[in-house]
Amino acid sequence: MAYAYDDQNIFAKILRREIPNSTVMETEHTLAFNDIAPQTPHHVLVIPKGPYVNHDHFAAEATDAEIVDFTRVVGAICAGLAIQPGEGGEGYRLISNAGETGVQEVPHYHMHILSGRPLGRMVKKAD
Ligand code: AMP
Repeated sequence: MAYAYDDQNIFAKILRREIPNSTVMETEHTLAFNDIAPQTPHHVLVIPKGPYVNHDHFAAEATDAEIVDFTRVVGAICAGLAIQPGEGGEGYRLISNAGETGVQEVPHYHMHILSGRPLGRMVKKAD
């Protein structure tokens, strides 16, 4: 499958330092920053620095080093957020939206890490 990457998306601009971000963690291949419109008390986005549009693109074409690095950054942030006494209990939710079905707004692969309050059931029933 051929994947088309739009380098004018907002996360590409963040990676080029054209717009600011609230960095949580940065490694050679990965950047994690706070979501600008948090849905939960803790809402972190983790993105690879490479030009991948979604999870299946990343899984198919990223290097092993990029995949390991991304996975470990997500894990490290989850470990830090996993227990928040008085802020909704332990745990977190990972979400990665893709395409129209997933209602993806920014076409650069990203993982949402949500934590800090009970999040309810996983997916709403269809209307
Ligand atoms: P998605 O619908 O999965 O593509 O989610 C995109 C997310 O990016 C949303 O939660 C937005 O609030 C977030 N977002 C958009 N622009 C920025 C920005 N400049 N800095 C941080 N987060 C952003």
